[in-house]
Amino acid sequence: MLMQDKLAYVAGVANHRSIAWAIAKALDREGCRLALGYLGEREKQEIDKLVGELKQAPLLVSCDVTRDESVGEAFALLGRECGRLDAVVHAIAFARREDLDGRYTDTSREGYHLALDVSAFSLNCLARGAEPLMTEGGGIVALTYLGSERAIANYNVMGVAKAALEAGIRYLAGELGPKGIRVNGLSAGPLRTLAARGIKDFSAMHRMHAERAALKRNTEIEEVADTALFLCSHLSRGITGEVIYVDGGFRIMGG
Ligand code: NAD
Repeated sequence: MLMQDKLAYVAGVANHRSIAWAIAKALDREGCRLALGYLGEREKQEIDKLVGELKQAPLLVSCDVTRDESVGEAFALLGRECGRLDAVVHAIAFARREDLDGRYTDTSREGYHLALDVSAFSLNCLARGAEPLMTEGGGIVALTYLGSERAIANYNVMGVAKAALEAGIRYLAGELGPKGIRVNGLSAGPLRTLAARGIKDFSAMHRMHAERAALKRNTEIEEVADTALFLCSHLSRGITGEVIYVDGGFRIMGG
């Protein structure tokens, strides 16, 4: 029971395939009390179907990270209902479908701003909101992808957003470290989720991953969830500002 008597806010549950949902289940298994962050009514309906699988009923928190008012209301609710947070999971990203296809060179100003706002600046929003609630320190974990450091076909503006997210992780880690708040990235191999469906030729990316990864198979969502659990728990108490790869050894392989 690694997370007994701990409280975690897991943002980014859209449906049963969401990485955030897999992480929520891993935290729940280890005794954690949960607040689940969702975007809108459609996501809420999906979550309502899932919560019965958890051992403890979660607090449901509506939060659109592009709206300061919504973020403020979400953290006011978390403060009232939880009083304290020990862990925060950021599993939020969005880019327009036309920006995950074709040339990065042709990304519009609006598409660029939207992708960076939802996928990278949102970590500032969550960290700033959580800071006063993380009175006993704890772990903030953000989901990222290799497209931050390599030019991966069709990942385009999302790769630039992930690079900003990873740089943000290091700045936040440096600033929040004195309060015992650790901030880390978890870079996952390709997983079949709603967000992944927006990337053109995702299936080819998924296939190629299994062929080239050191482990010669695809990443499993439970592996990602267990590493997120580790990064949220005291077992990772000496780690901050890092990006941990859970990709079956794809990144370390040569061509
Ligand atoms: P997902 O579609 O299940 O999750 C993305 C979430 O972002 C959704 O819950 C969606 O509602 C939320 N979101 C979008 N706009 C938002 C907004 N304005 N305010 C609040 N929430 C918003 O897909 P996923 O694959 O589970 O994605 C979770 C994270 O994992 C993302 O950061 C993604 O980039 C990252 N990731 C995914 C993969 C993959 O292959 N699926 C690999 C590495 C990293």
